[in-house]
Amino acid sequence: MTKTTPEGRRNLHNRTKLVHAGRHPFENYGFVNTPIYRGSTVLYPTYADLLARNTRFAYGTVGTPTTEALESAWTEIADAAGTVLAPSGLAAITLALLTAVTAGDHILVSDSVYRPTRHFCDTVLARMGVTTTYYDPLIGGDIAALVRPETRLVFLETPGSQSFEIQDVPAIVAVAKAKGLCTILDNTWATPLFLSPHRLGIDMAIEAGTKYLSGHSDLLLGLVSANEAWYGRLRATYDAFAMCPGPEDVFLALRGLRSMELRLREVQRQGLIIAEWLAGRKEVAQVLHPALPTCPGHAIWKRDFTGASGLFSVLLAPCSQAALAAFLDGLTLFGMGYSWGGYESLVIPFDCRSYRTATHWNPPGPGLRFSIGLEDTEDLKTDLAAGFARLTAIG
Ligand SMILES: *Cc1c(COP(=O)(O)O)cnc(C)c1O
Repeated sequence: MTKTTPEGRRNLHNRTKLVHAGRHPFENYGFVNTPIYRGSTVLYPTYADLLARNTRFAYGTVGTPTTEALESAWTEIADAAGTVLAPSGLAAITLALLTAVTAGDHILVSDSVYRPTRHFCDTVLARMGVTTTYYDPLIGGDIAALVRPETRLVFLETPGSQSFEIQDVPAIVAVAKAKGLCTILDNTWATPLFLSPHRLGIDMAIEAGTKYLSGHSDLLLGLVSANEAWYGRLRATYDAFAMCPGPEDVFLALRGLRSMELRLREVQRQGLIIAEWLAGRKEVAQVLHPALPTCPGHAIWKRDFTGASGLFSVLLAPCSQAALAAFLDGLTLFGMGYSWGGYESLVIPFDCRSYRTATHWNPPGPGLRFSIGLEDTEDLKTDLAAGFARLTAIG
């Protein structure tokens, strides 16, 4: 067998890259997978080597063959110049933000971002003297009107957490480039397999590897990929923090990587079946699924994305809290809990009204977010139909 290189794999499909990237069997006695390297100390053979830091890995926090395997594989599928890992998706977001901002800066953040991103801007960044303006996720090129002399970056998340607005990334990137702003995009929903932020001109892209990269709800991990312009500064900021994940988590993520395309394709198929079924239910007022025309920004999704993952929301028709509780508490297949992207289906109620500031969120009834897993969709429908019967009985 002849070893392929990232360069040689450039024109291969993502499915093939996911199988071959970040593996070096013949550097590991022929074993297929890169093993778990645990370690703090790395030994230098001579004094001269120590002085010259003449070693591939200087110290455990800087990286190991295990972390390098995942970073290099991710760089390939993300079309990036480089990737750094972080111990959680939120840690990856904070690392990217701290790479780009300085005291006195102003930043623009989508009103639809993952709520802890908002919390970080409103607390830690605010304390550092960085001010945040939240903008309507559907603003597109009109974002130019919000740019001030001290504006430093635009943070995007598409689709938006919970509410699923699709942002016009090329229009926002065009404004950012014209005004010299850094762009960061949280790409956790689509993953690089369904949206390529760097090809659209985004500087740093974030993935909560906790979700689809893991795929099994058994680890926490974040990734930040960057283009040529930002990778050096990102790596330097990472080194300054030493925000390194544990080796077992990285190994599990590498295992998840190999089957990620297969799982995403299947939850896309299953998610659409359930979303369309829910759209036909009288208890449901609106389905917010980017692949359905009812979702704000659907046309842009069709233009920029190559697929939809298994996470979407619905807005129910008005009902009482007791009816909602009866629906949720009696479900037998859908679990209720935070995070998503695992093999098991989840549902969580949400209400954006309490924290949105740039947009008015006024749903007809309660919102529910579904993460569709790998169960049989007929069984999932049966579970949901029984839930709607309980809900209607109370009203
Ligand atoms: C879950 C999530 C994160 C954070 O990931 P953790 O690993 O749980 O910290 C970030 N962004 C989005 C969009 C998410 O859904």
